[in-house]
Amino acid sequence: MQKNNLSTYGFDEYCKAAKINTQGTFARILSVNKTNYKIISDNGIQTAELIGQLLYTLSPSELPQTGDWVEIIEYDQNSIISKVLPRTSVISRKSSGKTSDIQILAANVDAAIIIQGLDQDFNINRIERMSVALTDAGVETIVVLNKIDLDENWPDKVNQVQNRMPNCTVIAITAINNSVEKSFNNILIPKHTYVLMGSSGVGKSTLVNNLLEAKQQPTQEVSTAVGKGKHTTTNREMFILPNGSIIIDSPGVREFALSTENIESVDSTFDNIHELSANCKFKNCTHTSESECAVLNALNNGTLSQNEYANYLKLRNEAIFFQQTTQDRKRKGKHLAKLIKDMKDKNMKGSY
Ligand code: GDP
Ligand code: ZN
Repeated sequence: MQKNNLSTYGFDEYCKAAKINTQGTFARILSVNKTNYKIISDNGIQTAELIGQLLYTLSPSELPQTGDWVEIIEYDQNSIISKVLPRTSVISRKSSGKTSDIQILAANVDAAIIIQGLDQDFNINRIERMSVALTDAGVETIVVLNKIDLDENWPDKVNQVQNRMPNCTVIAITAINNSVEKSFNNILIPKHTYVLMGSSGVGKSTLVNNLLEAKQQPTQEVSTAVGKGKHTTTNREMFILPNGSIIIDSPGVREFALSTENIESVDSTFDNIHELSANCKFKNCTHTSESECAVLNALNNGTLSQNEYANYLKLRNEAIFFQQTTQDRKRKGKHLAKLIKDMKDKNMKGSY
């Protein structure tokens, strides 16, 4: 590996965005396997572990994740991670189960590429759902509709998405086509970090393979990342495209659910509703029962689709629910702490 790995993986851009000084030895997290990390530093790819102090003091969401920049103490093959640098963005989701805990999936991402296959996977509400969480995370959304060779109505679907999300980049492609990289010419920016999102079978691997083979032979590490045998993809989750942009394709990130407690993110993702709401009579209009609500008016006269409105309400209710469960949990935590204290006090008295 050359000596400028950090720059290749976007360190200069990161430092500018995060406004940090760079004194020390740094690396980027390529992938995580429990407490083992695969990192890239100027000395190449290595494994690393957390310094004990971090292992015991960081909360789960503060632990390094794919895309994080870290400070390291370099040893031969196995380095020690001594600090996680501030994140410019995080992609997260609710942990499975009933709690509303947050699980970090990737850090320091500029944009997400949401891929759907037009053969069977097209679902505009799902795109919107992902985009809400991305907006909340400060990550841009790029929508890619794939397999247009299998759907003659593809221009209609592009229009549908573009109408629903006027501020997103939407492109339609055939990932199996060798010249697919042309569709991304003005979209993927060198040194910016992108994550791929989309269900299994939509064509993510096909797309990445074609993008990687576009202009040059991939390096050894890269070819093991997306080589012919799919089983080899698990270890390398981050790679560099010929144009210099950085792609994260991690099984954990591919599908993720809404984990926002930020109702504003829902509002600002639904561009059409957001625009309409400026004309509602009440500033805090909920667009459900108020008089002179511009959103309800648009719904009644058909300029706003039922489907878009229903999805808006659904995601907004989820955000409200999530906000409540988080508050509820904090309240219960305080209650429990008081209970334990009371019990201790009682025991203390009893022992005299
Ligand atoms: P992944 O699970 O998202 O990585 O999907 P794959 O890249 O493995 O693709 C799933 C299947 O869809 C494979 O059989 C691909 O050959 C096929 N496929 C991918 N892109 C296209 C496309 O643009 N058109 C057609 N017809 N098939 C495609
Ligand atoms: Zn309204």
